[in-house]
Amino acid sequence: MQQRDHHWSRRATAAALCLMAACTWEPPSVGEIEAVYVPPAEDVQILSLGRAQTFGGLLYDVMDANDQAGLLLAFQEFADPRRLRERTEVTFRYLPGSDELRGVDVAVSRDQTVRLDRDEVLGGWLSRVIETPVYVDTVYASGEIEGEGGLWESVVQNPVLVQVPYEDRNSLIDHLDRVFQWQLDFSRQLRVGDTYRFAFEQEVRPDGSMRAGRLLAAEYVNSGTPFHAIYFDPNGDGQGSYFDLEGESVRRAFLLKPLAYRRISGTFQNARFHPVLNRVRAHRGVDYAADIGTEVMATSDGVVIHRGPKGSFGNTIEIRHSNGWVTRYAHLNGFRAGIYEGSVVRQSEVIGYVGMTGLVTGPHLHYEMLANGRQFDPLSVDLPAGDPVPADDSQRWEAEMGGRMALLETIPRAGPVRTYTAQSQLGQTESGQTGSGQTGSGQAESGQPGGGPQP
Ligand SMILES: [Zn+2]
Repeated sequence: MQQRDHHWSRRATAAALCLMAACTWEPPSVGEIEAVYVPPAEDVQILSLGRAQTFGGLLYDVMDANDQAGLLLAFQEFADPRRLRERTEVTFRYLPGSDELRGVDVAVSRDQTVRLDRDEVLGGWLSRVIETPVYVDTVYASGEIEGEGGLWESVVQNPVLVQVPYEDRNSLIDHLDRVFQWQLDFSRQLRVGDTYRFAFEQEVRPDGSMRAGRLLAAEYVNSGTPFHAIYFDPNGDGQGSYFDLEGESVRRAFLLKPLAYRRISGTFQNARFHPVLNRVRAHRGVDYAADIGTEVMATSDGVVIHRGPKGSFGNTIEIRHSNGWVTRYAHLNGFRAGIYEGSVVRQSEVIGYVGMTGLVTGPHLHYEMLANGRQFDPLSVDLPAGDPVPADDSQRWEAEMGGRMALLETIPRAGPVRTYTAQSQLGQTESGQTGSGQTGSGQAESGQPGGGPQP
């Protein structure tokens, strides 16, 4: 049960995982802080609540009944001792080299620790809540498209990102796809030798867990042409969007493709269907292989003018847009509930699901873009749509864009890749001070709920 060096062994595990993945794992940076040797302020012992064990039961081995009652009383100001989950971490803090218990930390949730300090003046215990500090780092990654696996493989296997949870790496690809969806069809246009660089926010917790957050800046160089998407929030309400280096919105009247890149399977594109439009005149459309049921999006705002079977197209939706454009989505498995002829749809709205109805050999989406009955390759159509950065915000835009691009420029376009962490913020706050509010032990006040010596 005793895990006095618990937090050290966890670090060792992270390092070991790192060796296996042949990466250069480094603990999350908290900025440019010089290493200073500080002797441990306290000895710590970390226990975790066993199955069916009560908090009182765990305390029983460590302190006498009187002391325990006082501690529970203080603890109850912030949490219910009967509601602690199994494996809740309880850290006992001692005067170095002695058995004198000075404090107890109870990690009541992922975000909160109840810290109990012995009241040296009045006796008894003082309690308060410590919010788990979350560092928001900016992580930079770069890479190159090397083969068939495309962007997905390059990002998922990027050594910089192995520390990011797998699901988050997948969502980073979705983020990239979403900011470039008007400029680039990753499923059709990617070329070996293309490079990318991007920066995103990453939340790091003291236990080492991380979460990928917002994409801040991205560059994709496609066949030698660079595309940029820089996040900017004109109103400061968290509802920002993406702009190119000139401050023009990356949004266009049409998405280049009606499916999320990550949902499109590779086999079809490399087969005879790709690139369909230029090679097989009789075909007139773009085919995307994807699993049955994959969501199909309207590529632009418009009105549904056909919803139902249509000969060899099978289940088909047709949408009329402004300026005479019509888009067609064929071989659908089904239509989204509420989508009928006459329905008004918005860009990116789900209208139906990939299927294999009509004259097909496998599940895929057949997509067409027509004007005056004539077929156009979506890649050849470029209709501006989004508003540029408002003139009033141009100074702030220039500063933010310049800063983000300057950081992006510090990394090579393609390997050797490294993580750059910058702009760290310590999110620690304390609340619920009771009693005298004395912290008891200065140096241990590191914000790390596990207590103990700092690296
Ligand atoms: Zn087709």
